[in-house]
Amino acid sequence: MPAALYLVATPIGNLEDISLRAIRILKDEVDRIACEDTRHSRKLLVHYGINKPLVSYHEHNERDRGEELLAALLAGEKIALISDAGTPLISDPGYRLVAAAAAAGIPIIPIPGASAILTALCASGLPTDAFAFGGFLPPKQGQRRKALEAWAESPATLVFYEAPHRILEALADIETVLGERPVVLARELTKLHEEFLRGTARQVRDQLSSANTRGEMVILIGRGVAGLRDDRPLPEAVADAIRGGMDRMDAIKHVARQRGLSKREVYKASTAEGQ
Ligand code: SAM
Repeated sequence: MPAALYLVATPIGNLEDISLRAIRILKDEVDRIACEDTRHSRKLLVHYGINKPLVSYHEHNERDRGEELLAALLAGEKIALISDAGTPLISDPGYRLVAAAAAAGIPIIPIPGASAILTALCASGLPTDAFAFGGFLPPKQGQRRKALEAWAESPATLVFYEAPHRILEALADIETVLGERPVVLARELTKLHEEFLRGTARQVRDQLSSANTRGEMVILIGRGVAGLRDDRPLPEAVADAIRGGMDRMDAIKHVARQRGLSKREVYKASTAEGQ
């Protein structure tokens, strides 16, 4: 059998969430398995009686190790790429290797399975006809708000990964930038403490701050729906955005965009009331 690069999805929590095909490929087909953390992946492989050489491939050695793996593929090896959880390449390393292997004419064979994006989306209760995945939100507030601004006009359900220690700040920025939209926080998917928190960003934040903020999380943001329409008076909406940290002109721009009004109209309305 000629060389091939298999992209094999592994579970995102519950060890049973792996396909029969994935197990067969890892057990019988490949010469070795490239993974992020060999100690972490070994637990899964031992669970399924898979005994193949492991090689580490992670964000810090992606370039050098990628060249070695490509050379091995060109020499005829069959290699599986897995990540610590879910589908490799999805907010995980692998893109460079796949691009290089594809350019070199190596067959790329995806073995689909779990990913936190679709697992969260399908149970969120938010529209699934169009969705956009933005990866991890930027860690710094300014960049995070800019990123959210850039998605503000999207007609799709927005999906982001977020780290637990930033979740409260991220929800506060979602409230400031995107306003009263339906938000779902999907936490610890497929694990013992799986839960879905639903509401506006503020309501989800309130539910979270009274509990703990641990666990792996996906944030989903729906399009504005009628029941949640923002009907605060314009001066109040501008004042809230300023309280959220925007300067006055940004706040006016932001409210104008949210309401489908011109900046002039929002400026006039907010100034008329002595803002
Ligand atoms: N490749 C993975 C996938 O296909 O979903 C994602 C890897 S990314 C480095 C890790 C992030 O995915 C976590 O910080 C969290 O946002 C999300 N995630 C992974 N597993 C999850 C789970 N069981 N429940 C909720 N979110 C999860």
